[in-house]
Amino acid sequence: MEDFPHHKICLDNFRKLRPKRFIKLRSKTPRNTCVCSIHANMEFALKALARADPTYKDVAIGNDMSRNFICDGNKEKCFSNKCCLCKHSPAFFEKFQENEVNATKSVTWEQWQKAPGGGIFLQVERVTKTGTESDLIKHIKEMKVKFLLHVLVKRNQAACLDSYRQQAQSEDATTAVLHVDWSRSYLCLQQDEIYAAYWERKKHRVSIFTAMMWHRGEKSMAVALDSQDHTKKTVIPCLHKLFSEEIPATATTIYFLRYVLTRIT
Ligand SMILES: [Zn+2]
Ligand SMILES: [Zn+2]
Repeated sequence: MEDFPHHKICLDNFRKLRPKRFIKLRSKTPRNTCVCSIHANMEFALKALARADPTYKDVAIGNDMSRNFICDGNKEKCFSNKCCLCKHSPAFFEKFQENEVNATKSVTWEQWQKAPGGGIFLQVERVTKTGTESDLIKHIKEMKVKFLLHVLVKRNQAACLDSYRQQAQSEDATTAVLHVDWSRSYLCLQQDEIYAAYWERKKHRVSIFTAMMWHRGEKSMAVALDSQDHTKKTVIPCLHKLFSEEIPATATTIYFLRYVLTRIT
């Protein structure tokens, strides 16, 4: 590809030719990012800022966005907006100089926000916002405190989970860590299905209640249900099945988790 940069290849070949040692398939890559709107909206805004203003071209995006706003102390008080050195993030916000160019140039950025009529499940939609660079800086400033606190909470949760998991994996552990969640709305296919079956298939959705347990090693479990009900009516029977059939009697204390992601920065 390097020798023939103008030679076009199809996506399949491009994927096959990737350096497999460094670029793994998504299914083989552990998830180390938070999938919340707080992280996503900060990333959208910082990307737009880096595109719009060369002063911010080296802004940290992705895994280490908190580094933009806090001092080298990197301590709990920096994340909770109590450090006198970085409370107002001078290194980031004082870099912005309003001038004739950026005061009039239009900048666009994306944002996840609650959809109108989103209902009780807080459905969100991805929208594009337009404004000046100072509007974008203001938007980042408004998100900053909540973002840093969120990173702190996630880091503490991850550290706590890691220590519980380590404890639970030892040979004589009496504790277990159980991480459960829903994997929703799978469509069922049949072998050699005809095209017209697509419409019928839409009716046949299954949910999978997934569980990962760490106790004297680790074990993954799943319960499949042909129901779209994800309330306590289905959660309790699933948990009952796990507790009665899968969790050994040697586990006398169980730490029960949901919605926890590890290694968030
Ligand atoms: Zn997050
Ligand atoms: Zn600080």
